[in-house]
Amino acid sequence: MELRCSICGVKRAVAYQRHSGLKLCRDCLYEDVKKRVIDQINRYSMILPGDRVLIGLSGGKDSFVLLNILAELYSPSKLIGLMIEEGIYGYNRGEVLEYMENICRELGVECIRTSLKKDLGYSVDDYMKYQLASNSGYIASACTYCGIARRRILNSYARMLGLDKVATGHNLDDEVQTYVINILRGDFMRLLQLHPLSSVHSTKLIKRVKPIRMVYEYETALLAYMMGYRFQEVECPYISIRPTLRVKVREMLVSLEMWSPGVQLRFLEFIDTTLESVVKMGVFKSIELSHCRLCGEPTSPNRVICKFCELIDGMRTSGSYRQ
Ligand code: SF4
Ligand code: ZN
Repeated sequence: MELRCSICGVKRAVAYQRHSGLKLCRDCLYEDVKKRVIDQINRYSMILPGDRVLIGLSGGKDSFVLLNILAELYSPSKLIGLMIEEGIYGYNRGEVLEYMENICRELGVECIRTSLKKDLGYSVDDYMKYQLASNSGYIASACTYCGIARRRILNSYARMLGLDKVATGHNLDDEVQTYVINILRGDFMRLLQLHPLSSVHSTKLIKRVKPIRMVYEYETALLAYMMGYRFQEVECPYISIRPTLRVKVREMLVSLEMWSPGVQLRFLEFIDTTLESVVKMGVFKSIELSHCRLCGEPTSPNRVICKFCELIDGMRTSGSYRQ
């Protein structure tokens, strides 16, 4: 006997939503996810009428869902997709990015494609090769360089194109992991900066928003799959080569979620509400970021050189890997 959708009662249920206990058809799952995205956008004024938005597109399931929903909610002429290749051997995404370009075209969204190598001079592989060869004794993870570099490129394009917001496809699992990591590190400043209402502290920074932050990773995977998207499924090799705190936290949260479905959603709602009053008190409003002496980009008030320049310092002075 076919199971009917718990919401519409008409169509065949194709997904079990663990955190709610509902069995949903494809359309009701999409509407349920879209509703959470709209709630977040409205609750935190993430995208205002007239805003032009740069969307970071990785080619993964989250970016297909984000792109699809934003293109439905806003005029595609207000949206620009930016795809950034990290330059990681074996994590080949050439055909996924071409496919993503076609999807953007179909949705009427302009799409730009670039790479870490092209814009910053060094791919993630270049960075890791240099670190391993330099015998400096300190090896920062590939993800540290990759994350900072991608954020920098997203911000530069949004600024250069005169856009108002940068939207990224961080899902609920990503967001909870980052909150937990900052709690474990005791970094209250970063914890507050993560809140959707936190302000930017430099005119050079474009506000980043995460419209799908209340949507579970398994939901974006299900939706992207059911919508027929061919998304990137290969896992980046650097995750297993050097497990980071994020990997450990993710493993812990996955097992907690299995044990008590909905635990991450409740945690995110709780911490959002708890931090909101602190953010609204404007504790960090007066902070002015300083500017990096080497590249001129904004950096923490106590820094002379930004983290990005610090990471590539050795490569820059030796001229390595720049072609
Ligand atoms: Fe970049 Fe790390 Fe993600 Fe790989 S796992 S793409 S290195 S952030
Ligand atoms: Zn710098």
